[in-house]
Amino acid sequence: MVRDVFLAFARVHILHHAAEERIFGVGMMKELARHGYRIGPGTLYPLLHRLESDGLLSSETQVEGGKSRKYYVITRKGTLALKQIRAKVGELAHEVLPD
Ligand SMILES: [Zn+2]
Repeated sequence: MVRDVFLAFARVHILHHAAEERIFGVGMMKELARHGYRIGPGTLYPLLHRLESDGLLSSETQVEGGKSRKYYVITRKGTLALKQIRAKVGELAHEVLPD
C-alpha cells in the first residue's frame, strides 16, 4: 500500500521535473533517490513508458558520444494533468499535515 502511494508520488515528481526541463532515466533515478525514493530501472522505465503512452510525456532519442539517450518532456496534456494534481497535493497537504 505504501509502495503504491510512493509510486504515485514518484509520478508527480517525474511530471514536475519534465515540466521544468527535459529528463532522462538515470538522471531521474538520482533525483528520486535524493528525495528518498529507491526506484530502480525495472520500475522507473515502465513508469516513464506508461506516462508516455498515456500522452503525458513525449520522448526523443539523442545520440551523444556513440550512446543513445532518451529524453522526456511534458506534453500539453501532461501540463494540464500536473495542474490538477498540484491543486490536489496542496489540498491533501493542508488536510493531512499538522499545522
Ligand atoms: Zn524532485
